[in-house]
Amino acid sequence: MTYNILLYYKFVTINDPETLVQEHQALCDALNLRGRIFIGQEGINGTVSGLVDDTNAYQKALREHPIFAGITFKVDEASAHAFKKMHVRNKKEIVRLELDEAPDPTILTAPSLKPKAFYEMMQQDNVVILDTRNQYEYDIGRFKGAINPGIENFRELPIWLKAHQDELKDKTILTYCTGGIRCEKLTGWMMEQGFKDVYQLDGGIITYGQDAQTAGIDWEGQCYVFDERLNVPINQVNPSIVGRDFFDGTPCERFINCANPECNRKMLCSVENEIKHQGSCSEACRNHPHNRYIHPNNEKTAH
Ligand SMILES: [Zn+2]
Repeated sequence: MTYNILLYYKFVTINDPETLVQEHQALCDALNLRGRIFIGQEGINGTVSGLVDDTNAYQKALREHPIFAGITFKVDEASAHAFKKMHVRNKKEIVRLELDEAPDPTILTAPSLKPKAFYEMMQQDNVVILDTRNQYEYDIGRFKGAINPGIENFRELPIWLKAHQDELKDKTILTYCTGGIRCEKLTGWMMEQGFKDVYQLDGGIITYGQDAQTAGIDWEGQCYVFDERLNVPINQVNPSIVGRDFFDGTPCERFINCANPECNRKMLCSVENEIKHQGSCSEACRNHPHNRYIHPNNEKTAH
């Protein structure tokens, strides 16, 4: 059986998110979808998996909904569900940036470039490519030559940008993220802060990989995704592997989480090195009393 995995978002004012959360949970349950959806006053952000007919019915329902009309879906084929359960949650922010005064993305956001235009802009002088994602996402794949802010969490990015404003503010900045939502929220704030020439990749990396003209050219490695697949291929033109094993630096595209539940660091690691280092990123993590690798039965007490 064929499944689809949907990735989608829309910034739109929602006056009563809680009612929509309930409606949405019922809709998704009726369609046997699994995944996670955030709904809040600023809009909707979701990723779900289901049988093709069910995900088609879901897309139709959203497109016909007065609030969600015009929403764009990124669709991937799969052979199974990509999530274990269905969660619909009411969130203050559908993507957490935690700024006191972030502009409304429906009013202010950087111009977006379709994949081909983005690719062409990347080739020009005085252009920098900014990866707005986290370190572990960058680790397994990124655009050739992209700047890596090295953040562990999206909300650290404004702080990083403030610290690097002088060197970046007069450049043309191309931002990208997985599906587009982070850039759509961030770039309006960047423009307010005085970054003059900012563009975002329309539909994110996933769209860039599916686009017939770009077919993912010059994307290095894989793209990290927030479902059970963990990463997906993007580049159909000149693919390469950039992921490196945390322990020995050899090419690697396999993620594990550090076995210390309080660290939980995502790292690329071969099966051999996972065994050798007992799934732990450091001596301290290995010796943690709740280490899941060494004390697998302790996991429940660890939280
Ligand atoms: Zn650790």
